[in-house]
Amino acid sequence: MSLLLPNFIAGRWQAGNGAGTPLFDPVLGDELVRVDATGADLPTAFAFARDNGGAALRALSYRERAALLANVAGLLQSHRDAYYAIATANSGTVKNDSAIDIDGGIYTLSSYAKLGETLGDRSFLVDGEAAKLSKGGLFQSEHLLLPTRGVALFINAFNFPSWGLWEKAAPALLSGVPVIVKPATATAWLTQRMVQDVVDAGLLPPGALSVICGSSAGLLDQLQPLDVVSFTGSAETAALIRSHPAIVQRSVRVNIEADSLNSALLLPGDGPGSAAFELLVKEVAREMTQKSGQKCTAIRRVFVPEALYGAAAEAIAARLAKTTVGNPRNESVRMGALVSRAQLASVREGLALLQGQADVLHDGSAQPLIDADPAVACCIAPTLLGTRTPDSAGRVHDTEVFGPVATLLPYRDTAHALALVQRGQGSLVSSLYGSDPAALGAAALELACWHGRVHVVSPDVGALHTGHGNVMPQSLHGGPGRAGGGEELGGLRALNFYHRRAALQASTAVHAALVR
Ligand code: NAP
Repeated sequence: MSLLLPNFIAGRWQAGNGAGTPLFDPVLGDELVRVDATGADLPTAFAFARDNGGAALRALSYRERAALLANVAGLLQSHRDAYYAIATANSGTVKNDSAIDIDGGIYTLSSYAKLGETLGDRSFLVDGEAAKLSKGGLFQSEHLLLPTRGVALFINAFNFPSWGLWEKAAPALLSGVPVIVKPATATAWLTQRMVQDVVDAGLLPPGALSVICGSSAGLLDQLQPLDVVSFTGSAETAALIRSHPAIVQRSVRVNIEADSLNSALLLPGDGPGSAAFELLVKEVAREMTQKSGQKCTAIRRVFVPEALYGAAAEAIAARLAKTTVGNPRNESVRMGALVSRAQLASVREGLALLQGQADVLHDGSAQPLIDADPAVACCIAPTLLGTRTPDSAGRVHDTEVFGPVATLLPYRDTAHALALVQRGQGSLVSSLYGSDPAALGAAALELACWHGRVHVVSPDVGALHTGHGNVMPQSLHGGPGRAGGGEELGGLRALNFYHRRAALQASTAVHAALVR
């Protein structure tokens, strides 16, 4: 039997007392490890984190907590090889794709370590200027941001076991809020190992970081009014979490990052051979194949002027044809596997659904898998779909296929394109391609309300831009409506979620005693 990974709760390692759920290698089919949370004493786990972890973190200043983040980043850096090995085995990703998760997580931690340093030796933050409430100004109102006195519970998705933890834990720990992470079962190993390394190194106070792998049963019941929950995953699970009695009755703050029909839009005026056209083609092919399309931010819908539909299909297909698929251990492979048989089945199902309203413009499945048995490996080749009737193809605007799949859609004019993009009902990101700064700026403003991020690619930044799907700690991550309505990252803005805002109404002497 494979190793049963212990959970770290209430300051000690504890194994679940059930049989455990096995985690698999999605390419070779081997069982790797097991996870289990049966019998975990959740009330004690949450109380320990709240009382011990929270108190210890709040006793430190922002600068001191920033130093802890820098130490964690340094430690993770020193174990990178082990993390890459786990990612290859359990996520089935090629090295470049594992890097987005592993190095992306470490980079985000380091970024928050630097940002935290700028907050200095304070124990709370001041929000804006004081306002006079009395004649002469002796009695004033000032808004304070105080680290919330609860735990931050993270329920994470399978696609980013490293980054998904650290992009949330960095602002939480910097804010002085202890973290309990429940990784998605399919890829929980990497999250568990990283927490284990940090715990074993004694870098954080007891109770500051806990990990519970396995079933989510009972977790939400533990939530108290000052706790916060960050969820990343499907819209269905998000709806269950939002309506959970503990969250509804205790007004627990929730952040949801759900699925999203992200788009790429080539504005009119740049045809085949132009820099903007080539940049769109390159980005679409990259987004479709990176992490086998298992990125919440991946491009799912591609909009081009009607006259360019054929040329765009040809150019994207030509790039996709170069994508070798198979075992990530083979150096000639560019795209590894989906994470599980369940995801493979779900992608096939989604593809079949979309094909009811769209044609197949490129199907990479004619190329054999490299070093992988198609009967075992969860590998699937990239597929570009397309339809000349985007208005009536409702499914392409609301079905997220979480794999290497995108749909090409032609538009008549810019107004038509913008209206079609908005049929995603709120997305994490839209990218715009063109060479006219005024047109790009105007389109970006039209789309901004519907997106957490608008990524504009003009030829002058062609070699510099950070990528449609890459989430940078400096920029907001989240999106309205369908995308869950959440907000993460965005530099120090992320700290708001982990602080409570309170107005202090008092004499200037009291303010001066507190806020120096
Ligand atoms: P999922 O099935 O909703 O699972 C997400 C997490 O919720 C997992 O940890 C899962 O645990 C847990 N969970 C399942 N049922 C639960 C319940 N009743 N109560 C509490 N927690 C529960 O989603 P997924 O299939 O792992 O992830 C894929 C989806 O995530 C995609 O749709 C993608 O778009 C979205 N996503 C969004 C973002 C973003 O930032 N917006 C990022 C990544 C992914 P188990 O694994 O143990 O079931």
